[in-house]
Amino acid sequence: MNVQLIWFLIGLCQIIYSNEIQVQDEYSKQRFDMVKYQIQERGIHDTTVLKAMLKVQRHRFVSEKYHHQAYADHPLPIGYGQTISQPYIVALMTELVELKKGKKVLEIGTGSGYQAAVCAEITDSVFTIEIIKELAESAIERLEKLGYTKVKVKNADGYYGWKEYAPFDAIIVTAAAEHIPPPLIEQLSENGKIVIPVGHPYQVQNLMLVEKKKGKVSTKNIIPVRFVPLTRGR
Ligand code: SAH
Repeated sequence: MNVQLIWFLIGLCQIIYSNEIQVQDEYSKQRFDMVKYQIQERGIHDTTVLKAMLKVQRHRFVSEKYHHQAYADHPLPIGYGQTISQPYIVALMTELVELKKGKKVLEIGTGSGYQAAVCAEITDSVFTIEIIKELAESAIERLEKLGYTKVKVKNADGYYGWKEYAPFDAIIVTAAAEHIPPPLIEQLSENGKIVIPVGHPYQVQNLMLVEKKKGKVSTKNIIPVRFVPLTRGR
């Protein structure tokens, strides 16, 4: 066992035994294993992200027939042809935008509301946009029921961002776009970060990290990913 792993395990034990974040349910052990084997062991070390992933009850974001698969290493259907992303990808995207307490984040593609809930464990300023009305409505209800009452959800085309609340320190796009939507770049704050899958729909895309520094925008390819497409203007 290497030193890093020992420190991680000590850290996780502290998290688990601190009343602060422990959520006990029938899936606690599966959630712990998900964080340890799928997320930490693949290189996610930001404890803020690990704690959030350990706390959010992922099974509450999928229908009951998928509860037993909720902590598995893959995406799951959430209806309307959409999916809740693989846990590792949720953690990776959250780590890449360096979300911290007090920062303002915009998510495009609310889906089940899971990524928004993970963000809401880290900061109070979470805004999320979903294009499918039924999904937006069920996410609002679910987030409310689970106590994520500060998350603001809007039913709209997220391509245009959410100007009223801009600028955002972080923007997480959870559907694949053919290009980086210019309105999102405009609505990004100085030193802000966007994480977005870019590429053709139904093919492998590039997860890209976009940064704005002194008004200049730079992009970096992170890993190949497969997301449902960012659809337009319904
Ligand atoms: N983040 C979600 C999963 C995302 S799946 C979760 O944690 O569950 C991608 C979502 O993006 C789908 O719900 C899809 O309807 C939505 N979507 C696709 N195009 C969109 C657009 N232009 N604006 C907002 N949402 C969009």
